[in-house]
Amino acid sequence: MAEPEIVDVVVVGLGVGGEEVAGRLAEAGLTVVGIERDLVGGECPYWGCIPSKMMIRAANAIAEARRIDGLAGTAQVRPDWAPVAKRIREEATDTWNDRAAVERFTGRGGRFVRGAGRLDGPGRVRVGEQVFQARHGIVLGTGTRPSVPPVDGLADTPYWTNHQAIEVEELPGSLLVLGGGAIGLELAQVFARFGVRVTVVEALDRVLAVEEPEASEVAAAALRADGVEIHTGVKAERVSHDGQNFTLHGAGGTDFTAERLLVVTGRRAHLEELGLDTVGVDAKQRYLSVDDRLHVSDGIWAVGDLTGEGAFTHIAMYQAAIVVADVLDHVRHADGGPDASGTASVVGGAMGATSALGASGSSGSAGTVPRADYRALPRVTFTDPEVGAVGLTEHQARERGINVQIGFTELSSSTRGWIHRSEGFIKVVADADQGVLIGATSVGPAGGEVLSGLVVAVHAAVPLAQLRHMIYAYPTFHRAIGDAIRDLS
Ligand SMILES: Cc1cc2nc3c(=O)[nH]c(=O)nc-3n(C[C@H](O)[C@H](O)[C@H](O)COP(=O)(O)OP(=O)(O)OC[C@H]3O[C@@H](n4cnc5c(N)ncnc54)[C@H](O)[C@@H]3O)c2cc1C
Repeated sequence: MAEPEIVDVVVVGLGVGGEEVAGRLAEAGLTVVGIERDLVGGECPYWGCIPSKMMIRAANAIAEARRIDGLAGTAQVRPDWAPVAKRIREEATDTWNDRAAVERFTGRGGRFVRGAGRLDGPGRVRVGEQVFQARHGIVLGTGTRPSVPPVDGLADTPYWTNHQAIEVEELPGSLLVLGGGAIGLELAQVFARFGVRVTVVEALDRVLAVEEPEASEVAAAALRADGVEIHTGVKAERVSHDGQNFTLHGAGGTDFTAERLLVVTGRRAHLEELGLDTVGVDAKQRYLSVDDRLHVSDGIWAVGDLTGEGAFTHIAMYQAAIVVADVLDHVRHADGGPDASGTASVVGGAMGATSALGASGSSGSAGTVPRADYRALPRVTFTDPEVGAVGLTEHQARERGINVQIGFTELSSSTRGWIHRSEGFIKVVADADQGVLIGATSVGPAGGEVLSGLVVAVHAAVPLAQLRHMIYAYPTFHRAIGDAIRDLS
């Protein structure tokens, strides 16, 4: 058996979270080994946020051009997928090649190892024949993979996940989308706008079920207006493929047929692959439990989707900043404190990391490690109109027994919404006892951008009286926030 090689930190999985942690720790002067099984950068740049938003940008351009009729003359639009596929291939993913990302990481001082890493006892990580012993810690950032439901026959068919949907060069004539969550709706609308006949099948009684019911309604209506068929409350019972078409048999006898089937029914962390049993951590959990400094157990941290705190790039980045500060704090203490000799570069790095955290909006101050706080977790579904949300929904707040007040306004009753002829609304959820917002939803053409003011209000617990007496620029979409606040009852 190979002798373990001693290093400072080992990071397993160089997706959004892992790459950020590994790169910053290496820049701080630690010897860092970063292990990646597939592509450095992870899901977001290759099969997630970035290419999907390129697709959405293109699809929205088509939709906007179609709005010229009746507003500004006439326009003829002939959608063509080729430039979208080219842009994803050439600008976003380098044809799914991570050489630039590997160089970015090694350029920051990290050592890169390609392969699947797994824990191999306390402080140890094995990747193939190599074993690393981490002096200061191990960070797990292995993300999630698509979770495919146990539907009879499905596993034997050539169904798509987000990977094939993002990599597609030629669009099919028709597409079934199994799953009406954020990713399903975003992709369904894109493909429909490019002329694909799209059907969404969702088991729950509404699409976008984690958000406010009013948001589900607006999103469903928008997709239907783009020609998407939406079937809710339909549980898939069986899937078959005859070599050309998929047929999805729904409970209750409804069948749906299309050339392609996209399965977007959530994501799963594969904890069973990580050797957690060798360090006494339960691998049967759905996600890896962490505390508010992202500790899994002594000397092990986790970052990103596998923590189950929200499958978003901004969560992975937020957590990465905390992990970096905490690992460096740990190193400083292990090496005898800030004044100990020989730790100058690490201490410098620790202070640098702490101030960078401050700059990125963390609540930390010099010398302290901030703790994760997800109260004001923002999320955006990039359909058109966009659905932005932060904090608790009305239902979640009531379930917690909070004395809830609701404020609501349609975007069309604001001047900008009326001019724009746009669907949407602002809904705010207040804790009447505390006099602050604890949640909000902003749906509209720029719902995700308008959300920022609401995120500040929830994050900083801005008193309602102050929100009521703010000046909101006229005529903006965000001016509707003032109307929703005044509607609180
Ligand atoms: C279609 C789609 C659209 C999305 N859009 C958005 C969006 O608009 N905004 C947003 O905030 N988020 C979006 N997301 C979510 C976002 O992509 C994830 O939240 C983010 O990638 C999580 O980062 P991560 O570091 O936790 O994991 P990942 O990015 O999944 O990276 C984990 C990495 O670990 C590697 N790995 C796994 N196991 C091992 C092992 N044993 N050894 C070595 N390496 C391993 C994997 O190969 C992978 O590269 C989207 C996701 C999808 C699928």
